[in-house]
Order: sequence, then structure tokens, then C-alpha cells
Amino acid sequence: MNAAAQNIAPSSEARSFLDRDHRLLIDGKWVPAASGEVTEIFDPATEQKLATAAAGGKEDIDRAVAAARKALRGEWSKLTSYDRTRLILKLADELEANIGLASEIETLDNGMPRMVAHYSIASFGCDFLRYYAGWATKISGETIPVSPQGVRNGESLTYTRREPIGVVGAIIPWNAPLIMATLKLGPALAAGCTVVLKPAELTPLAALFLGDLVKRVGFPDGVINIVTGYGETAGAALAAHPDVDKIAFTGSTEVGKKIIAASIGNLKRVTLELGGKSPMVVFPDADLDKVIPGVTRGAFFLNGQNCMAGTRLFVHGDIFDTVVERVAQMASQFRIGHGLSPDSDLGPLISGEQRERVMGYVEAGRKSGAELVCGGDVLPGRGFFMKPTLFSKTTMDMSIAREEIFGPVLCVQAFSDSDLQAVANEANRSIYGLSGSVWTRDISVAHRMAAMIDAGQVSINCHAAVDPAIPFGGNRQSGWGREFGREGLDAYLKTKATTVIY
Ligand code: NAP
Ligand code: MG
Repeated sequence: MNAAAQNIAPSSEARSFLDRDHRLLIDGKWVPAASGEVTEIFDPATEQKLATAAAGGKEDIDRAVAAARKALRGEWSKLTSYDRTRLILKLADELEANIGLASEIETLDNGMPRMVAHYSIASFGCDFLRYYAGWATKISGETIPVSPQGVRNGESLTYTRREPIGVVGAIIPWNAPLIMATLKLGPALAAGCTVVLKPAELTPLAALFLGDLVKRVGFPDGVINIVTGYGETAGAALAAHPDVDKIAFTGSTEVGKKIIAASIGNLKRVTLELGGKSPMVVFPDADLDKVIPGVTRGAFFLNGQNCMAGTRLFVHGDIFDTVVERVAQMASQFRIGHGLSPDSDLGPLISGEQRERVMGYVEAGRKSGAELVCGGDVLPGRGFFMKPTLFSKTTMDMSIAREEIFGPVLCVQAFSDSDLQAVANEANRSIYGLSGSVWTRDISVAHRMAAMIDAGQVSINCHAAVDPAIPFGGNRQSGWGREFGREGLDAYLKTKATTVIY
């Protein structure tokens, strides 16, 4: 099925949001870009124009950073931690009360099925904010019983304070636009920071929708600023800004390296959530009734436009043919269509450019001698749809198995070695180290293999188990630092040691 055949129209509520004059949120006011420039936003399922948003540039970033700096020292700094908790909880409640519209906008902007948008906003929008709202009242330092400068015990006091890191620049990608914004806002606000948020140029609508809620909830002006626009202009200006204390970036490894280079000027702190090429390793004793749906969804959730996507499937030779056949069968049965249609399991890819990039990899895969088992085609008509694609008999020297495709392409490779380390070495043959999964009923194989996989997160008998409380982030070129959980909060705090000698 193709969305082109479907006549899906936004609800009147969504239509009136889309038709607005979308501006930048700076210092509590919606303002046009200084240049007056705008960008056009398209529905990737119909290729039709949805909305127009302001294209902010350096001057707008300067204004937003100044507003965030002023807010950091203003009313926001005088609030108690309970006040911050209450405000973040109110934001979560507002989002929940408007989740129907929020998920419709997310689907129109990004293409993901509405059910997926709804689920992700409920858990990583609302509940994620609630999780961090609770942390605001649990930030504490410690007292350290030392004798500095040789003073006698009891003649001095040393303690640490945990202070907000300051003004945070949050730069986010298009693959899950609303939750990418909440993943940055939750810990930053709990820590007492102020934020300038730069959404992806392709998908600014969710952040603008959140901007309305932020105003309604009553955060002091300038605590949350939103500058829509291009990465090369607005994003680069934010990353290089001398008065920004930290950049929290989610996106590609390539741009992540540019963020590091741009941060050098004032040595701002940087955390990076980058790309992945995550392995899923299936042993012959695994429960195939769990493995097949688990790895198929692990690979094709959000069309593989998901940093944790399990894009390399390693299957023991004894069950290789069965697994390949059953995964291909399930992948071919996914219903593809407009995300607003309740019948769609998969929506379109984000853009024509992205689909061409993915199809380029499919072509490279065919030429490299990998066996195309299913998919490999685009869907005719309007919308950037393509079929889930499975290549068998891939090897790690093929570009499809090595590089992050960020599309619905799964590479399957057999292993026969009983040497677990050899299997792990193959799974670890990647510049990335974000996620991974192990599938077996043997508890010792499961934990030994999980320990050997070089990734920030490994799941056993499931793929990409995520929760606001589970630390999340990448090893090697998948990133710097961790989000989620306590470590996610720490990334927005700095320690001050204070000593008094009586
Ligand atoms: P991207 O091209 O790296 O863009 C990410 C953000 O950076 C966008 O807002 C982009 O703006 C901006 N940007 C681009 N160039 C910039 C520059 N020179 N300076 C500052 N900002 C700049 O990534 P994407 O294509 O949107 O997203 C896909 C990538 O994100 C994949 O690699 C995926 O693995 C990764 N990702 C990682 C995680 C994780 O948690 N580890 C989660 C989701 C996605 P424009 O939109 O204008 O280009
Ligand atoms: Mg771009």
C-alpha cells in the first residue's frame, strides 16, 4: 500500500497549528528571524507543503543566548528545587493533555506511524519529563573530612556544591523530533540550566508545539528559547557561541565532530549522542518466536531511522536459513503507508535525499555480492516510501555492513564459531558502539556475550530496551557521555568545592 493512494488530511486542529506564522521563541516571545527568512516544511508521506517556519541565523542565536544568560541569573535562579519540579511536571501534564495533537503533528512532520508517535511521546516525552522533575529535589554535594593546609581535624570544613552548568545549547535531529527535545529539556531544567534549542531543519514543528506549552506552563522568560533554522547557520552559531557553557548534541557522527571543533573557542562542555551500527547476535538455542519479531522490529522500527537500530544481524549457522526466511517474511508483511492511517506499520523515510542515500547503499550492496532477500525497492508514487530490505551473506568489509545507513536495510551474517570472543570481535568490528543485543536461553552465554560487546547498552532477549532511568549513550564514535538516569543529570551539573579554615 502506498500513501499516495490514500487521501489523508490533517485534523482542523492540526491545520490551524500548521497554518500559523511560526516564529522563534526568544525571551518568552515569538519573534521573526532577524533576516526575515523562512523554511518550508513538507509531509514526507505526501511531499506536500505543511507549514513555513522562521529560519533563524547567527543574530537570532545571539539574542537567544543573551536571553538564556539573563534568565540563568534572574527569577529562575531564585526558584526552589520544588518550584522547578512543579514546572517540569506541569509541562509533562500539558503535553499529556495535548498528546493527540502532539502525535498528529509529529506524524505529519516526521512520517512515523501515529501509534509510534503517541507511545514515544507518552514515555519519552511525558514520563521522561516526570522522571527528571523528581531529580530536581535530589541534587546534593558532599562534605569531605580532610585537613587542608595541615589544619587540625575539626578546624576546617570542605564541602561540594552541584551547580547548573549554565546556558545549554541543545541541537537535535529529525528522527524523533518531539522526544529529542524533551530528552534535552528534562535534565537541563531539573539541573537549573537555561536552554537554547535548535531543532532539525526538516522537523521543527514538534519543538514549536512544545514552545506553546512552555509559555502556558509559566517558565520564566528566557529559560527555554527555540531557534528553528539550518544546521550550517543557526546550529553552527550555537555550537561556536562564546557564551554557551555546554552543547548537548544528538545527530550524526560527522556533525558531532564539527561540534567538538566549534566548541574549542571557549572550551564549552560537549555531550554527543551519535550514530550506530548495532549488532544483534542470535545463538542456536534462542526462542525463535521471540527472536523473529524482536530482531525484525529492532532493525526496521522507524524504518531504521533510529540510532539504536539493530542493522547487523549475526545468526548461528544452524538456524541461519530459518531466521533469514522468517525475518524476511515478517519484514515483507509490514504495511507501509501514511502515518496517520491506522493501518500503517511503517511510514515514509524523512526526505527524498535520505531515500536516495539509502537506495545508494542498496545498489552498493547488490554490487558487493551480498544476497538481496527482500525489499530493495522504493514504492512508486508520491511520498518517500521504501520497502524494508534484507541482505544476507554480508561481510564486514562491505559498506552496507560497515556504515550507518539510517534506513530500512538489515545485513545478516552467519557465525559458526563456538568461540564467543571470536563472535564478539566480529560484532565489535565497527567504528560505532551504541547498542547491541544477545539472544539465547543460556544465561552464562548471555551475560558473557553482553560483557564482550563494546556498546553503551546491551539488551538480552530483546533489542534496545530503553527507560528514562537506564543510562543511554555510545562508546567509540557513537558519542561522548550518557543521557538518561542519574548520569544524564550529572552532565548538566558542575561541582564546586568550598573550604573554610576556621
Ligand atoms: P545531523 O545531520 O547530524 O543533524 C543533527 C542536528 O545538527 C540538526 O539539527 C542539524 O541541523 C544540526 N547541524 C547540522 N550541521 C551542523 C553544524 N555544522 N553545526 C551545528 N549543528 C549542525 O543528523 P540527522 O541527519 O538530523 O540525524 C541522523 C543522525 O542522528 C544519525 O547519525 C543518527 O544515528 C543520529 N542519532 C543519534 C541518536 C543517539 O541518541 N545516539 C538519536 C537519534 C539520532 P539541520 O537539520 O539543519 O541539518
Ligand atoms: Mg541539514
